[in-house]
Amino acid sequence: MISVQEATARIGAHPGVPPATQIPLSQAVGCILREPVHADRDFPPFHRATMDGIALAFAQAAAGRRTFRVAGTVYAGTPPVRLADPESCVEIMTGAVLPGGADTVVRYEDLQLDEGPGGRRATLRGTPEKPGHNVHLRGTDGRQGDLLIPAGTRLGPAEIGVAASVGRATLTVSGPLRVAVVSTGDELVEVDQVPLPHQIRRSNAHMLGAALREAGAAPALFHVPDDKPTIRRTLERILPEHDCLVLSGGVSMGKSDFVPEVLRELGVETLFHKVAQKPGKPFWFGRAAAGQAVFAFPGNPVSTFLCCYRYLVPWLRAAGGQPVLPAAHAVLDETIRFPPPLTYFVPVRTYQDARGVVRARPLPGSGSGDFANLLHADAFLELDAGTDTFPAGEAFPLIRFRNG
Ligand code: AMP
Ligand code: MG
Repeated sequence: MISVQEATARIGAHPGVPPATQIPLSQAVGCILREPVHADRDFPPFHRATMDGIALAFAQAAAGRRTFRVAGTVYAGTPPVRLADPESCVEIMTGAVLPGGADTVVRYEDLQLDEGPGGRRATLRGTPEKPGHNVHLRGTDGRQGDLLIPAGTRLGPAEIGVAASVGRATLTVSGPLRVAVVSTGDELVEVDQVPLPHQIRRSNAHMLGAALREAGAAPALFHVPDDKPTIRRTLERILPEHDCLVLSGGVSMGKSDFVPEVLRELGVETLFHKVAQKPGKPFWFGRAAAGQAVFAFPGNPVSTFLCCYRYLVPWLRAAGGQPVLPAAHAVLDETIRFPPPLTYFVPVRTYQDARGVVRARPLPGSGSGDFANLLHADAFLELDAGTDTFPAGEAFPLIRFRNG
């Protein structure tokens, strides 16, 4: 049996990064970017009017000039023009290029337009505040060559918009990891079936599928009965089609727990079996000959759930090239005694106290079968093996499975 820390290290040593591919921008949302995206030009790329009004030379207004000859109109999309002379101005619309010789935009609200003897003219109601007013200067948001989106970012609509604005019609990404989720057990029936008194529904597979999807992977659900040849045949078929295999059930010491044995027969190398933790002690982890990671969790729903959030989800984030989340902690509300030499993961409900400190109220429930208890919890607190008493008021690592 190995420690939680050792299990974490062995899983972390197994990369499992999916191959990078180039795909059209329109299909990239949800994928992990595998190359940096840089600005192809300055942001904004030209001095841009941010208001509708007139563009003029500030120095003229500052020197007391109130009336300017209107020499023309520029719109968003009009190629750049120059002021004919410092006494003139041009009407300018939001998004248009500031004319050469002008440095300031005065809003329509702050001027009057009329026809004078020499043609159309604009008269200011006051002096503009400062040079550059209502102008978004070229390069203020970013410079050509600036790193805009680092590799490893999960692409959302904002990233897609930025990539489009710098001309990236295609992006190098890794697609979602294809994960086979396999529940095992003769007692399990489909979610849409009515179980007989000795049967239960295969909830773990759906929970794992949901957690995987939330973590950006592409799960496919399978089920096998507790029959060695069937388990072997099924795993042999689905293993080559997936980047990762996640099993639930069949890894303990029971007479029908065939999973470790079958995996070994299929050439999956055992990297560990059994972790000094509660729940989830029989957790098995290995590596297939073709490189896929294989996680086999004990079937008790809370065990599967804990193992999923403590080991699988962080591994998936790393495999997808996403940054490691900062370690979270919470202050324990009640003293907990746990003498066995195991790391104890206790379900908790977190909240912020008046001083903004994140605190955790333990909800131990009735053990690893008490799935419904998790509806009231939002995290596990990790209480290290080797200590018996975990005093109220002390902070411990937090594994969140719910936000907000
Ligand atoms: P096992 O790890 O196969 O010995 O299963 C331990 C317990 O978890 C048993 O009570 C199983 O009925 C239950 N169990 C196993 N797999 C699932 C599943 N997919 N959904 C819900 N409960 C399960
Ligand atoms: Mg079983």
